[in-house]
Amino acid sequence: SSFAHFGFDEQLMHQIRKSEYTQPTPIQCQGVPVALSGRDMIGIAKTGSGKTAAFIWPMLIHIMDQKELEPGDGPIAVIVCPTRELCQQIHAECKRFGKAYNLRSVAVYGGGSMWEQAKALQEGAEIVVCTPGRLIDHVKKKATNLQRVSYLVFDEADRMFDMGFEYQVRSIASHVRPDRQILSVSRKLSGYLEMKSVFNRIYFIFLAL
Ligand code: AMP
Repeated sequence: SSFAHFGFDEQLMHQIRKSEYTQPTPIQCQGVPVALSGRDMIGIAKTGSGKTAAFIWPMLIHIMDQKELEPGDGPIAVIVCPTRELCQQIHAECKRFGKAYNLRSVAVYGGGSMWEQAKALQEGAEIVVCTPGRLIDHVKKKATNLQRVSYLVFDEADRMFDMGFEYQVRSIASHVRPDRQILSVSRKLSGYLEMKSVFNRIYFIFLAL
């Protein structure tokens, strides 16, 4: 398959070419069209599969569509992941590809400065990449609000459940728009089953083991 199948515009293709990606990975071939269609999705994929870009590229397009429909503050997309390291990696990819449309990303994670993160959130960003507990802390302190969020990603879902973040996953989901699209990636099938038990709705699943 090739990038041409995704129908991305020139601005996004320019950033992809700059990254020297010559063709989409299998998870991107399977996942990108489903994510672009607006359906909820959970994929089984490991680090190194290209899973991050598979949910970031459709996210950027979603944000550009929503920005006009829903003016206001607060992020439009939130990506939740289990660790600070993953948070920083995903944030770096959001910044890289977000350049295509001048979209801003903020990373908030446990262990970082609450104050600096709150300041960055208040300056405004369409994308927030976070660890679950820290995002909830910022919402409670009103550093940000999730009322405009309509694209919600849970990365490494299995690991979040293993780490006991189920309550936080539920809490974040309860604060976003009811018509949100949920994307999730899990390294194991158990993560799919756990996500399915939390979100009482049918998921499209694709497997890229
Ligand atoms: P991930 O599985 O998202 O952690 O990505 C693993 C690595 O693959 C990252 O360094 C990405 O920048 C890179 N990558 C993602 N998509 C592609 C692609 N289509 N071609 C080449 N490298 C890619």
